[in-house]
Amino acid sequence: MTDEQWGVLQGNLLKAVGKNNYASWIEPLAFDDLRDGVATFNVPTTFLGNYVKQNFGDQILYQMMGLGLNVSRVRFIVAAQSPNAANQPLDKSDGAAALPEAAPQKRDTPIAAAPLDPKFTFSNFVVGKPNELAHAAAKRVAEGGPVTFNPLFLYGGVGLGKTHLMHAIAWDLQTSRPDLNVVYLSAEQFMYRFVQALRDRKMMDFKELFRSVDVLMVDDVQFIAGKDSTQEEFFHTFNALVDQRKQIIISADRAPGEIKDLEERIKSRLQCGLVVDLHPTDYELRLGILQSKVEVQQAQYPELSLDAGVLEFLAHRISTNVRVLEGALTRLFAFASLVGRPITLELAQDCLADVLRNSERKISVEEIQRKVSEHYNIRLSDMIGPKRVRTYARPRQVAMYLCKQLTSRSLPEIGRCFGGRDHTTIMYGVRKIEDMRAQDGQLAEDIEILRRILEA
Ligand code: ADP
Ligand code: MG
Repeated sequence: MTDEQWGVLQGNLLKAVGKNNYASWIEPLAFDDLRDGVATFNVPTTFLGNYVKQNFGDQILYQMMGLGLNVSRVRFIVAAQSPNAANQPLDKSDGAAALPEAAPQKRDTPIAAAPLDPKFTFSNFVVGKPNELAHAAAKRVAEGGPVTFNPLFLYGGVGLGKTHLMHAIAWDLQTSRPDLNVVYLSAEQFMYRFVQALRDRKMMDFKELFRSVDVLMVDDVQFIAGKDSTQEEFFHTFNALVDQRKQIIISADRAPGEIKDLEERIKSRLQCGLVVDLHPTDYELRLGILQSKVEVQQAQYPELSLDAGVLEFLAHRISTNVRVLEGALTRLFAFASLVGRPITLELAQDCLADVLRNSERKISVEEIQRKVSEHYNIRLSDMIGPKRVRTYARPRQVAMYLCKQLTSRSLPEIGRCFGGRDHTTIMYGVRKIEDMRAQDGQLAEDIEILRRILEA
């Protein structure tokens, strides 16, 4: 492989693995040679070599093949073992001595905390049914009282407010308990620090640092799944802190038990505390969030008028996640200000056409009917048909309810899909389930299961 090809390969790998991974794992590699289909790279440590091989080996191989190179295997060896190593000065101190001052000592940052977003506070967090439990648990932890549940494990889909809640806890603790050493970081940053410590032979410092924390928050812990040494270290840190009765807060995109390639002992440890999930937003919550965020926009663009119904429209149509919802609102105001027009429904439809198209729910009425009838073990024809006995009527109403919740179909449209029923019948069904759901635990659970199946 020529230097030029190596340069191209590095560029491609940067794109493929992302900046952070690239800096930690690919940058330290030095291409050695390519012979008989075997590409050899020099690495500073065995650990790094093993890690790269396990996590990026295939990617490197694939990218090399893409450059038309004849390669079938990649290997990583510590520089001293490589035949070419003799070309490099083994005694590095020679070179260093030639410099007036040795390379500046890397300062030890006290802890690897990530900066907090000033917008992510409790007062900016809109509470609704889907997130009330998570919010309450976060609030409790933020009081900084004696640790009652450890860890607090928050999970939920993208953009539902996990990071927001964690930052909010950190902000609150900073004012209420300035004596506490509160550390927030992503699991990726945890890994990065860990690897750095390994590389710089500063594991003792690393351990000491993390064990001196009073409140540790690790965001997106699913990231360390499959990364064995990082998991191991995380587990030790975790245990040490729990033993000292220090509060730990973890987030992930799914429940502990559902994180693939996460060690069993870690899973069970994570389940020991309080596990709460952030449910997908519902219409009311989305509207609430929009109403709170619109104030910020209106302060920024006081000249713009906002038609009634626009927020409702957005809350209805953009159901993917809050981040997208926020982005849509920002864009809408910026666009309106640019073209100097009031914000109407039409303008929103124009300006947000792509977002609206992307967040069009893919769940169809037919799919809902099918899954619901399967769940209740009835025939699809009975669900849609005219029979009014309870065995069919209840599942039918559940399906109507889910159609209203999960699709953007109107009541008359839904009615047509249910054997030509009138929209008032659909509305009655939806209301009925809404009411019953509050009292009937079994029904609430059925709906939850179905919703998950349908949204999966
Ligand atoms: P996650 O970490 O779960 O992917 P974030 O916490 O980053 O999601 O939230 C994404 C965006 O949505 C952030 O800008 C956040 O402020 C906002 N957001 C999410 N939930 C709420 C809420 N309940 N109230 C106000 N803003 C929210
Ligand atoms: Mg997040």
